[in-house]
Amino acid sequence: MTRQLIAGNWKMNGTLAAAEALARALLDAPRDGIGAELLVCPPFVHLQAVGRILNGSDVALGAQDCSVAAGGAHTGDVAAPMLPELGCTHIVLGHSERRQNHHELDETVREKVVAARAAGLVPIVCVGETEEQRAAGQQDDVVGWQLKGSLPNDFADGPGVVAYEPVWAIGTGRTATEDDVAAMHGFIRAELVRQFGDKGASVRILYGGSVNATNAAALLGVPEVGGALVGGASLKPQDFLSIARAAV
Ligand code: PEP
Repeated sequence: MTRQLIAGNWKMNGTLAAAEALARALLDAPRDGIGAELLVCPPFVHLQAVGRILNGSDVALGAQDCSVAAGGAHTGDVAAPMLPELGCTHIVLGHSERRQNHHELDETVREKVVAARAAGLVPIVCVGETEEQRAAGQQDDVVGWQLKGSLPNDFADGPGVVAYEPVWAIGTGRTATEDDVAAMHGFIRAELVRQFGDKGASVRILYGGSVNATNAAALLGVPEVGGALVGGASLKPQDFLSIARAAV
């Protein structure tokens, strides 16, 4: 069985010194009982410094977004080919905060997945319904459309990850119930197999949304959960490592 992936999304938090201290704390802490793969995704401007600290360690480095373009006249954007130079192996794409704050459409997310793949990065593509959509019973339709629209046809041919992040659970302290997670991860698995055939069976599916040291074991024990995408708790090294210890 593939090891679970515990990915920390540091979002737009912290000074350079704080990012470096967090990376050092992760490396200095005892590793006993951790079998999971570890990944942290700092803000762009801290990637190089954090990458230097993590270089050669068992904690991988990822970015939180990239441009659809490989370079050129795109003021303020960051091209995917710039990221492996800093040590990045992974990239979070289509996070709900980007879909909301930057009006990213599924089509844009798909173009970013293609750009990230071309640069050799492993895309972690986020999907998830809003509270209103769940209240209306539309979660399967919404997530199904996001998967169809955000994943290119060859997604399952290379390394790629899907993260189910119900929008109402992100940063709110509310998590989906284990039954809801099981139902949605089962639905996503079926969709991936429908879209990509047998190869869709091996795409890792992370759960994200207020995962913490207390609820991690239960959430990570749900069938078809291949790890966690962790926001707030990833800024506290002990909490992040406790979540990793709960992984299988
Ligand atoms: C996230 O933003 O990807 C996330 C899951 O955040 P939090 O863990 O804080 O809910």
